[in-house]
Amino acid sequence: MVYTEPAYAKLNLTLDILSKRPDGYHDLRMVMQSIDLADEVAVSPREEAGCRVTADLPYLPRDGSNIAAKAAARFFETSGVSPAGLDIGIRKRIPVCAGMAGGSSDGAAVLRILRRIYAPEMPDGKLEEAGAAVGSDVPYCIRGGTALAEDRGERLTPLPPIPPCWLVVCKPPCSISTPELFAQVQVKKLRCHPDTSGMLDALKQQDLEGIAHRVYNVFEDVLPRRYAEVFSIKSDLLGLGAMAASMTGSGPAVFGIFREQESAAQAAEALSAQYPVVRLCHPVQAFSENFL
Ligand code: ATP
Repeated sequence: MVYTEPAYAKLNLTLDILSKRPDGYHDLRMVMQSIDLADEVAVSPREEAGCRVTADLPYLPRDGSNIAAKAAARFFETSGVSPAGLDIGIRKRIPVCAGMAGGSSDGAAVLRILRRIYAPEMPDGKLEEAGAAVGSDVPYCIRGGTALAEDRGERLTPLPPIPPCWLVVCKPPCSISTPELFAQVQVKKLRCHPDTSGMLDALKQQDLEGIAHRVYNVFEDVLPRRYAEVFSIKSDLLGLGAMAASMTGSGPAVFGIFREQESAAQAAEALSAQYPVVRLCHPVQAFSENFL
């Protein structure tokens, strides 16, 4: 029997860094949004013990270091279910190392599938706890939709869904090291912070203009000069009619928000002439029925 789940990518409508914690991590405040760009994750229980991961990208880890395998191991530790042999297959659609939580989302899909198979009574909180031990974006990826993520990203508050819109995502051909970017941040020196409470109000009012107006990622403030392409994609998106444009997570993927499909499709086509990874997407609402 093969069990499948889509593993949706996320975008950061906002990303704020509030403080550096004594444990070296940062306290964050982020408004997250899932989009209909998804990896396909398939899990098949098998007789033979252990977890085997296959992926359609040769450079992804196939051993226990794959986030999907880590999630499976953590599920069996947390649930008390005796570890089963598993084949996990991943068809990668989310750009890797883009700031779109691709690996976390694969891990979250594995957790959702394993709960479905082995522990349907497991409460959401416990599944999210298992996810948090794998990575701080995993609990959000388990539930998806529009949510406020706080602390390291694992404390979640569901939010009203973003109103219908189109999202153009473009990833330049560079990768940014997340630890390197965090190392650039001196919280007191950040010049600007997102208006997160204004963003929450705008979501409540279903005011797309107000939402677009408040899209902001503090990492842009500390982005080293060699990633200037991020800013040129942002200005291209704005020039092509986006209501707002921002880097997502620790980048380098950038997205633009459009009200109309036609202008979004034209922007995506124009950017495709210059960049290999350009996607036209929709927002996705919370997708695990347990979290609705
Ligand atoms: P985030 O937005 O959570 O910071 P990201 O989008 O920047 O994540 P990922 O695509 O999740 O980054 O990949 C980060 C690293 O994790 C890569 O070095 C990759 O090799 C490794 N990795 C392990 N498992 C996976 C997986 N299932 N999918 C993608 N990357 C994986």
